[in-house]
Amino acid sequence: MIHILPVCFCIAVLASISFSQNRTPENIQQPGQGMNVLVFSKTLGFYHGSKPNAIKALYEIAHGKKWQVTFTEDSTFFTDKELSKYNAVVFLLTTGNDLLNEDEKRALQHYVEGGGGFVGVHTATDTEFKWPWYEKLVGAYFIGHPPVHEARLIIEKRDHPATRCFGADTLKWKDEFYSFDRNPRMNSNVNVLASVDEKSYNIDENPWFKNVNIVMGDHPLIWCQHIGRGRSFHTALGHMPELYDNEMFRNHLIGAILWAAAKAEAK
Ligand SMILES: [Zn+2]
Repeated sequence: MIHILPVCFCIAVLASISFSQNRTPENIQQPGQGMNVLVFSKTLGFYHGSKPNAIKALYEIAHGKKWQVTFTEDSTFFTDKELSKYNAVVFLLTTGNDLLNEDEKRALQHYVEGGGGFVGVHTATDTEFKWPWYEKLVGAYFIGHPPVHEARLIIEKRDHPATRCFGADTLKWKDEFYSFDRNPRMNSNVNVLASVDEKSYNIDENPWFKNVNIVMGDHPLIWCQHIGRGRSFHTALGHMPELYDNEMFRNHLIGAILWAAAKAEAK
């Protein structure tokens, strides 16, 4: 049994304010400067060994971008008042049900529908299976996966802030490729940004989910949608520790967070 202790540590990396009248490249604001991000990584189901790497990556991203970021596994952050401070909330390698109590769930719904940003990374679809609004937020639920494989990613929309980093229509990508209980493309509100070519890896090698058909055919992995006045982004990528040191993947996360926070343009 894995015991999870509430963890909260806040890292404030605030941009220095320049009052200079001379707009040199150094003091022109970067897109997203002044961002405040809440990263929630509570785990009640499968624990990913890559979680420390994922937290380190987001810390380094925040430091480099002069964002303020708060990492926590403490669900009491989910109040209307506290969430109102953040441009985006990231569910980072969360798993399990009832991570949030009923009041905290309502606060996340108010936050997103009122204009907040949500980003789910890798296991966000393996989270909160019994919460209907969350099902809408993430767009689908995880049902299983084969072992880690290298496969062909198809970048369907290359002009989105979270996919420009891939720099090609297709590329080889090594990861644990989740299958889902539905095709999110069937929801007209969902914008599918990337999918995986099931013919490029052995999806039938399925030792842990033997009685589940994880073949989807059309198999989206990355998508986004508007929820009320807010934005929700989902990426199924991000299983292995080394991915969080991969510059392309880090830029994917940066673009996702900026888009969710409505701080980056997307066509
Ligand atoms: Zn995984």
